[in-house]
Order: sequence, then C-alpha cells, then structure tokens
Amino acid sequence: MGQNLAFDRELQSIDDQHIWHPYSAMHSNSTIYPIESANGVRLKLTDGHELIDGMASWWCAIHGYNHPVLNRAVIDQLDKMSHVMFGGLTHEPAVRLVKKLIDITPEDLTSVFLVDSGSISVEVAMKMAIQYWCARDRPAKKQFVSLRNGYHGDTFGAMSVCDPITGMHGLFSEALPAQFFVQSPQCGFGNSARKEDLDALEAILSKNHQSIAALILEPVVQGAGGMRFYSADYLRWARDLCNQYQVLLIADEIATGFGRSGKLFACEHADISPDIMCIGKALTGGYMTLAATLTSDHIATTIDSGIPGVFMHGPTFMANPLACAVSLASIQLLESYDWSSNLKRINSGLESGLSGCRDLPQTADVRTLGAIGVVELKNPVDMGSITQHFVDAGVWIRPFGKLIYLMPPYIIEDRDLDQLCNVICESVESLAQ
Ligand SMILES: *Cc1c(COP(=O)(O)O)cnc(C)c1O
Repeated sequence: MGQNLAFDRELQSIDDQHIWHPYSAMHSNSTIYPIESANGVRLKLTDGHELIDGMASWWCAIHGYNHPVLNRAVIDQLDKMSHVMFGGLTHEPAVRLVKKLIDITPEDLTSVFLVDSGSISVEVAMKMAIQYWCARDRPAKKQFVSLRNGYHGDTFGAMSVCDPITGMHGLFSEALPAQFFVQSPQCGFGNSARKEDLDALEAILSKNHQSIAALILEPVVQGAGGMRFYSADYLRWARDLCNQYQVLLIADEIATGFGRSGKLFACEHADISPDIMCIGKALTGGYMTLAATLTSDHIATTIDSGIPGVFMHGPTFMANPLACAVSLASIQLLESYDWSSNLKRINSGLESGLSGCRDLPQTADVRTLGAIGVVELKNPVDMGSITQHFVDAGVWIRPFGKLIYLMPPYIIEDRDLDQLCNVICESVESLAQ
C-alpha cells in the first residue's frame, strides 16, 4: 500500500509536469484524479475511493465500463487482427458494422465513411458537401451555415462552424474560413417553433445560397455549446428550407446518436433524413475512438462523377477492426433490450431528482431530455472546488460554465441516479447566490 502510494505520487508528478488534459494548461493547479479501473457505473480511484459516473465519459460509455459482452468482442477480434490498412483491403468487422449502421440510421444514408474521431467525421462531412457541389459544377458553394451555440469539434473545419463565442474557439477566428451563423432556435423542445427563428435562417439562405454548400447543426440537442434542447419543428423547417435553397443538410449526431435524446437518432424527433450525418462518441460504447460520416448514394455517386473521381480523404486508422467489432457489439447490445423504456426510466429519474434544484435562487433553469439532465445556474461555477466536492461525495460530474449536467450510462440503477441528482441539488443549494 505504501509503495503503491509512492508510485502514485511519481506518476502524478509526471502527469503534472508533462501531460496536457482537455482544455487545460500544462502547468495548472487544478487537481487531476487518477483512475485505477472502472466497472459498471463506477470509477475507482487509485486510493480505492469509488465514484458514481454521471458523465458516461462524455456521452460515450452507454453500457457502462468493463462490460463482458464488449470485452469479449474486443478480445475475439484481437486474436484475429487489431488493425490492417483499409486502402485496397477490407474486413468483416467493417462490413458488418456498416451494414448495421445503414439499417438503423434515417433512410437514404447508405454510403459510409469510417474515421477515427468525431471532429474528423465533421471535416469529412464538410469535404463531401464541397466535393458534391464541385461535381455539380457549382464550385462557389463552399461555405457553411451553422447555429449559434453549436459545437462540432476542435479541428479547423469543425472549429469554423462552432459558435464563435461559446464554441471555445474564438481565439482562432482570424485563421478560420468565414462561415455564416444563424441565431440558435429560441423555441424549447416540445414547443412549436417560432416564426422568427425560421425567418432568421431563411434570410441567410435566400441571400447567400449561391455560396453555401450546407447547413450543419446538432439536431434537437445542442451539446458542448450550451446544453440546449430545441423544437423538432425547427429541424423540419430547416430540412424544407435546405431543399428549397439547394443547400445540403448535415446532421451532427455525434453526441445525440444511439439513444441519448430518447430516440435512437435525434433526427427521428422530427422524422427527417439529413443529406449527411456524423456519428461518433457512443458508437463504440465508449471503448475506442471511432466515428463515421454517412450520406446518400446520390451524393456519393455525384462525388464519383466529378473531378478527381474519388472522395479525397483516407486516414491511417480508417475502419480499425477492433473499434468496428466493438461498435457492432455495442449496437447489438442496445438492440437486445428495451432501451427506449429504459431511457424513459432514466428521464423520469432525472426529472424528479433534479426538481429539487428548480426553485433554488441559484438556478436559472432545469431541463431534461432522454438521458440528459441539465441544471443551468445564474453564475458560473468554480470548477476546482465543485469537482472536489463531487468527488468527496462519491460522484463524477464535470460541469462547465453555468452548466451542471448529467448524462449517465444507460445501465445506471435508480438509487445511483438519485444519488447523482441529490448531490447536485445539495451542492447548488450551498453555492453563494
Ligand atoms: C464531441 C463532439 C464532436 C467532436 O468529436 P470528437 O470525437 O471529440 O472529435 C463533434 N460534434 C459534437 C456534437 C460533439 O458532441
């Protein structure tokens, strides 16, 4: 035990001095908690302390950690091969996964490009849209429209369509291609859309459609740019306007895909099919990094018909077999039980559990959708102290700005969910007003 602690201290100091964490300074005073293992909905720190996971490792670990079925899928594939190049070669895990994705995603999405992360799937989607219009002899259509409060990733193309302020990339704005931004829909989920929202989108499209390749948006749930839920009507209208103005619709379902919003894909809330769809995050059940960009045969065939006759992208780790195998297992696992009722159970747990925050003077809003629960505060939280408070209380919750939110693994039991909600309500109540 003593030796173990000394080992921890050495690792901790290497981490402190040499490793960047997401959106962090190299040398910062913020505590980084060492995890030894994770099982079910529990993360175990190296000192033995256990935390109930409220984050599913950023929307990913929908089946919880160390799941026997997913472990088995990885091990079986590992015995055959962990990776081969995808140029000129193919393999069963990729083919079976792609077939499954085509079956479960909105209709017409039948051409699939596998990539290694969500941001790259957004880059690929943007390149598809540009190549499509080039092939149709409309090379001027190369800009994008996106929604304020949107978040689409951290690479350059993706950054250019993130909200310039809440999207965390304002610093780079001079270095990014200029895009169009439309006010985010003001109509909350479950309400009818407001005509003003539609007018704002139509104004941009009618004026600039000659130079616009696509509208990119997160359907219904805006995630990292503000955790907002908006009316499905807006999505239906956006689909119609895109058709009317010959602009492609890219649905970024990286956060919403695989049931998180209560539907398998959030586009289903509006019963629409996008022209291009990005998925990632929960695709592998949180086991590995994999994402995909799906489009229609019409778009793929049109790209083929243009110059240079191929789609210009091909990552080294494209269609990694381990990741494909575990993705297929994760989707099959989801299909093997009544996930939709389970999501309703989680939603009512979040609704009742977080209702205690609703009338607190510190709270601006409480909202839930599917397995997402959000408490929006009036003031930003102090990350360091609130995180320490959460860890001491035995939960893992990572707020940002004014937002404390939960998106737990779907396997979470009611009493653990209650515990997560109770800890949030108690800590909000103890915050200064
Ligand atoms: C997380 C996220 C991305 C970026 O995915 P990475 O795998 O982190 O590159 C893009 N779009 C949305 C909506 C996301 O939530």
